Amino acid sequence: MRKKLVAGNWKMNKTPSEAIALVSELKPLLNNDEVDVVFCVPAIDIIPVVNAVKESNIKIGAENMYCEEKGAYTGEISPAMLVDAGVDYVILGHSERRNYFKESDDLINKKMKKAIEHDLKPILCCGESLDQRENGVTLEWIKKQIVEAFKHISPEDALNCIVAYEPIWAIGTGRVATTEQAQEVCHYIRQVIGNVYGKTIAEQMRILYGGSVNEGNALALFSEEDIDGGLVGGASLKPEFAKIVNYKNSSN
Ligand code: PEP
Repeated sequence: MRKKLVAGNWKMNKTPSEAIALVSELKPLLNNDEVDVVFCVPAIDIIPVVNAVKESNIKIGAENMYCEEKGAYTGEISPAMLVDAGVDYVILGHSERRNYFKESDDLINKKMKKAIEHDLKPILCCGESLDQRENGVTLEWIKKQIVEAFKHISPEDALNCIVAYEPIWAIGTGRVATTEQAQEVCHYIRQVIGNVYGKTIAEQMRILYGGSVNEGNALALFSEEDIDGGLVGGASLKPEFAKIVNYKNSSN
């Protein structure tokens, strides 16, 4: 039985003091042992947020990381820095990083391997553009992203990874994928993982949906067989995030 996971992706929002205020507002609302809760926050917010979530089950994620140990990589952040600061998860391959910062599948694979070396749990994002969906190439695109990201990663290590299916056309647009569309691709991702690693690992790996998740659609999405929770952008910055985590209490 896979435990649900709901991760917030704060993106480039919240100064350190705003971050502390948001955590103080959300923390009392997030006492749900049935769901793993992760706040993926900007690098500068990590230390204050790690301190602010103490004595709760909330885990902290980074939104990015570099694939080298240390050295002359101005502006980058290393896996050891994240671990030392109290981070457990790291989002890798988000479509905003792929598109604005030209991150390739190869770079994402290097980051995946480096994160795993440091016992960080990657939340690997994949997803198609609207053009790709309309041209009927969604599944082959997703397969390529998954296969490339998991290259040379062992089955044991793959188990500590999480995949987030995030159709680009649904991110920040208010245009959520239908439950059928989301389930179809999450199911397909599980098949691709199964072809690489075998059925047992595929059955245990958590696969999330992301793209305009809100309190009104979380229950339907997270009730689908292959959707093990969500990666939540905009709604993770509001008290609504708690309603998404507590989706089972929703009346929708
Ligand atoms: C995201 O950026 O990961 C995301 C899912 O954003 P939103 O929920 O705002 O669509």
